[in-house]
Amino acid sequence: MPIGEFSDRSGLSPKRLRSYAAAGLLLPAAIDSSSGYRYYSPGQMREARLIDALRTAGVPLAEIGSLLGDPSVERLDAWTRQVEVDAVQRQDALDLARHLLTFDYESAAGIPGQPRKEAMTTLQAAARTDIGRVRENNQDSVLCLDHLVAIADGMGGHPGGEVASNLVLTLLEAAFTGESLEELKAAVRAASHAISDRAAASEDLEGMGTTLCAIGSTGDGRLAVVNVGDSRAYLLRDGSLRQLTDDHSWTAELVRQGELTELEAVDHPHRGVLTRALGVAPKIDVDGALHTVVTGDRFLLCTDGLFNEVAESDILSLMEGATDVGVVADALVEQALSNGARDNVGVVVADVRT
Ligand code: MG
Repeated sequence: MPIGEFSDRSGLSPKRLRSYAAAGLLLPAAIDSSSGYRYYSPGQMREARLIDALRTAGVPLAEIGSLLGDPSVERLDAWTRQVEVDAVQRQDALDLARHLLTFDYESAAGIPGQPRKEAMTTLQAAARTDIGRVRENNQDSVLCLDHLVAIADGMGGHPGGEVASNLVLTLLEAAFTGESLEELKAAVRAASHAISDRAAASEDLEGMGTTLCAIGSTGDGRLAVVNVGDSRAYLLRDGSLRQLTDDHSWTAELVRQGELTELEAVDHPHRGVLTRALGVAPKIDVDGALHTVVTGDRFLLCTDGLFNEVAESDILSLMEGATDVGVVADALVEQALSNGARDNVGVVVADVRT
């Protein structure tokens, strides 16, 4: 049938049909040698619609050509997953763009060089990290500012783990202005995408990921605490130590479901298996809560290299042991080292400034 009729029946414009022919995907069944007029056969209808559907889905012409040569539903599944990943990344990027467009930087707290709001809580903090006694690399990273403290425990071998834990803290520092809990969570999600992108671009970073636990000061005087993975935040107040975060690990989930006791979890062989981490899944759930602070509050961020090595009662007495946050941070790391330090150790101790 002539191109006009084929176009009417397939719903594809003659221009599209010509472009698919030019790409070598859907060649006319015949071309009139004198007029140059193109003819298609009714049997090409299905292929024409298939090509057009894939183009509409954004699949590149070269990949459509290779699918036609080797039809496979698995490749469609892979494209479908890619579309989902792209959609999440674009949504998160738009959220960040919306924030950048609407946030009032002039009166913002937490912008370097800008005066902070009167109400904003600032932190007096000290951070330490140590390779420990067994590991050959230190994949724990720490960040210590007066409006943002954070800790990250990287995974994925050398050098992936170090790269991932460093990257998330660098990106967080750049993105968090002190506006809100939502801003901090959005920054964490954006960092997770950046880690997966870096991992995909380099063979020796393949599979890298990281935990994250951070405390950010928001403009209203409260502190936003966020976490993904099994790095923890604790609050020392009135002589007692309270864990503010839930671990996203396999054993912690079983404890929450009542299928494992706390005691059984401590020595469980799958203790280190995480159910959430940054950089390893397209969609990331970030836990977060706002906390009102009082004078005398002292916070601790730590990686599993501390709490797996030092009992909570000992962490409590060390946290109360000195006025200076640096002295406390040193003492915590020292205790982990003298207990064997089978993993990297990372701690941040932060006092609320009054
Ligand atoms: Mg660790």
